[in-house]
Amino acid sequence: MATSDASAGTRVEQCDLCIVGAGLAGINALFVASRYLSPEQRIILVDRRQRVGGMWVDTYPYVRLHQPHPMFTAGNIEWTLGRDRAYLATKSEVLDHFQHCLNVIKQRVRVDEFFGCEFESDDESDGTVRVTCRSSDGEHVVIDATRLIKAYGFGVAPNDALDISSSRVVSVSPDFCDMRGDEMRASDTPVWIIGGGKTAMDTAHALITEYPGREVNLVAGSGTFFTSRDKVLPSGARRWWRGKPFSSMGLELAQMFDGTNETEVAKWYRETYGTSVTTQTANFLLGVLSDAENSTIVAGLNDVIMDYAVDVVDSNGATDMVFRSGATKAVQAGSWIVNCTGYVFRTGRPYEPYISPGGAVVSIQPRSATLHLTSYMGYFLTHMLLLDKITEVPLYELDAYELWSRRREAGSYALISLAQYNMSLMSDALPTKVFTECGLDFDRWYPLPRRMIALARYTRTHRRDRERWRRALDTLRERLDIRCGPLVGTR
Ligand SMILES: Cc1cc2nc3c(=O)[nH]c(=O)nc-3n(C[C@H](O)[C@H](O)[C@H](O)COP(=O)(O)OP(=O)(O)OC[C@H]3O[C@@H](n4cnc5c(N)ncnc54)[C@H](O)[C@@H]3O)c2cc1C
Repeated sequence: MATSDASAGTRVEQCDLCIVGAGLAGINALFVASRYLSPEQRIILVDRRQRVGGMWVDTYPYVRLHQPHPMFTAGNIEWTLGRDRAYLATKSEVLDHFQHCLNVIKQRVRVDEFFGCEFESDDESDGTVRVTCRSSDGEHVVIDATRLIKAYGFGVAPNDALDISSSRVVSVSPDFCDMRGDEMRASDTPVWIIGGGKTAMDTAHALITEYPGREVNLVAGSGTFFTSRDKVLPSGARRWWRGKPFSSMGLELAQMFDGTNETEVAKWYRETYGTSVTTQTANFLLGVLSDAENSTIVAGLNDVIMDYAVDVVDSNGATDMVFRSGATKAVQAGSWIVNCTGYVFRTGRPYEPYISPGGAVVSIQPRSATLHLTSYMGYFLTHMLLLDKITEVPLYELDAYELWSRRREAGSYALISLAQYNMSLMSDALPTKVFTECGLDFDRWYPLPRRMIALARYTRTHRRDRERWRRALDTLRERLDIRCGPLVGTR
């Protein structure tokens, strides 16, 4: 329904739920809402992008899922791809699945898409949340909603090429220059990949497999390791006896992390479940890589430099890459410099609590993280909101942005401990169906008997272990002086 706000001359839309963000977190929130709202109720889905899919809409074209595709979905909506369950979906397949999820949900509830629409502000009073947005043609749109879910995620946006001084090299961003495209194919000059995370691995793998023999170099910063897909997601019949369900692995990791010992935990995790291209690995960002992908990249790389590139400069007929340490490296004229530096935590959004003081606005972003992944936050917090439990259960929130800037090495382990703690609280508050309908759960990779064993163990121990996880989070807060604890004053 739309009315007109006479004072401002602006169109005012009314709805029961407004979701800002049509990425994986938003589509999971939408899935959950379709479980509670009736077909007559109205949901408005707002996104500044022109379609559903979030960061997948405009990230680099050769990106692939790092997990088997069935576990990347909204709720329990199944893929229609018809591929082996181990298959890693491509960008276009992921985007098709997003559209499929939206179509399925729209058969259950009324969803109006406000794409190309920038959310600007919200104001909660007298049981209504007034949401102000601006459409792509510059017009103000006002939405009066009973509830609002801001599923911003990490604010991932395409990377620009690195701003470098040299005019003899080509500086590109993978988001605007396809490594498999005509320009790259027509050239045979060396490629320098700047970065060591998932984008760098995808880029190195694409280049090495597309152009065998071409010089591909990596500037890997302080190095990143990945969870080995072979160790945690073994394929075929090996699922019956190899690997470890993620819930058991999460328990193991949270048992070990005490809020101070991230170096020791990282060493153990890397040796037990990890894989990496470089020997030095200070970072772990929850990425997944197979041993085969790792070996292909290691075998195909020419030079690996453990440093941070700051510029490429021309002087006296030579071209040099300049590093943060002050070291330099001669670079052949015509080389490609590919910016694969990180996407997350680039810009700091102001803090806001995961649930507003009035209890009607949920916010899913890293300043008040409640779980390890935004997709899980979209799914579980929406259940908590629509079951009116969200202001009752004292979830911990963690300022992951601040944590990253103060002690990045602790980031992933703290998030996993946070997820263990909050999932433990939520599993006491939410009905079992919520968990059985969660298709994001990596444990689904394993045959049912193994999942049941993992679940039985979790059920037996999580209440007992909760105190330990809370202590680790409290220790982290005291040690690093970051926001990490239950919300004060909202309940
Ligand atoms: C290169 C890369 C590869 C990745 N690969 C994987 C993978 O293989 N598997 C995996 O599980 N995860 C992967 N991830 C993590 C990935 O970010 C998440 O899986 C997921 O897609 C994030 O979803 P999201 O909804 O939290 O955020 P996003 O996808 O960023 O969606 C948030 C949406 O909110 C919208 N929005 C934000 N602010 C506003 C505003 N003010 N007004 C209107 N709209 C707004 C944005 O336009 C965006 O569409 C990858 C991340 C990166 C960067």
